[in-house]
Amino acid sequence: KLVASNLKPFDLAAAGHDGVLSDESGSVIVKPCTAREVAFYEASLAHPEFAKWMPTFYGTLTLSDDLIPEKTTDGDGKPHDRKASLVLQNLTYGFNKPCVLDVKLGAQLWDEFASQEKRDRLDAVSDKSTSRSLGMRVAGMKVWKGEGAGKGYQVYDKYYGRDFTADNVLDAIKEYFSADISPEQVKIIAARFLAKVSDIRMVLESQESRMYAASLLFVFEGDGNTLAQALEDEKNRPPKDENEDEEDDDEEDKILMVEELKLIDFAHANWTPGQGPDENALQGVRSMEKLLLDLD
Ligand code: ADP
Ligand code: MN
Repeated sequence: KLVASNLKPFDLAAAGHDGVLSDESGSVIVKPCTAREVAFYEASLAHPEFAKWMPTFYGTLTLSDDLIPEKTTDGDGKPHDRKASLVLQNLTYGFNKPCVLDVKLGAQLWDEFASQEKRDRLDAVSDKSTSRSLGMRVAGMKVWKGEGAGKGYQVYDKYYGRDFTADNVLDAIKEYFSADISPEQVKIIAARFLAKVSDIRMVLESQESRMYAASLLFVFEGDGNTLAQALEDEKNRPPKDENEDEEDDDEEDKILMVEELKLIDFAHANWTPGQGPDENALQGVRSMEKLLLDLD
């Protein structure tokens, strides 16, 4: 049950606009969005293979004015026109110290509705970053460095990822894995991410959609002890029975997560039957596969 008065600011966003909220349990987020993103989520129900790689979509709600954070802007200081909100699965739920990486996809970052001014601005960012050369760039990260003075969460803003080139962007990915976990644990997580990114690539190759400036959102457990426990729990967990009814939900809530990866941010996305696969997004997905392969 979602109690509006208990919504609180979500502090684990790695990039993007402010104004994301989460509920008291932390299992869902409420994200201000455009009508276009709502339409994409609603239509995704007809594309289950693709929807599998999106956060679970619970619906939309309209926040009353006093719940909209005052300083919600479009990044450039202008208040944004996002009146509706998506209610989505919180991809950082079930983690103790989630480490989050937002990889923005596409060399072209604007859709057909963008003004010339916006196209020029986004093209300039693309040209100067790995967006153009690799079809992806690091849009933001939050990495858990451990307890202690000068440690805690390290935050990497949108400018951090803009300075890398195709030749050194692997260093940014290595930085993402510089959490409070062991080299062996890094290997396990990276291998899982690689398998998932490959799966996403295959789905995108078989679908006809376009998404500009959507992201791959990576999350892994950044506390080594919790991660070891999560991996141990996985081994002992009975295989999931699809026919189980909802009664076990309380049990499921206690599951410790190892890693999570989904596509997010469909503000500039649509389904495009007849137009073939999304090569703009696929370039970035393939680059990400290669980077994860090159990690060790
Ligand atoms: P924007 O249009 O503001 O870029 P995004 O959908 O990219 O909106 O969301 C902004 C940030 O919020 C992302 O970088 C991500 O860290 C976080 N976020 C978005 N959706 C989710 C989700 N379902 N679960 C957890 N975090 C999310
Ligand atoms: Mn985004």
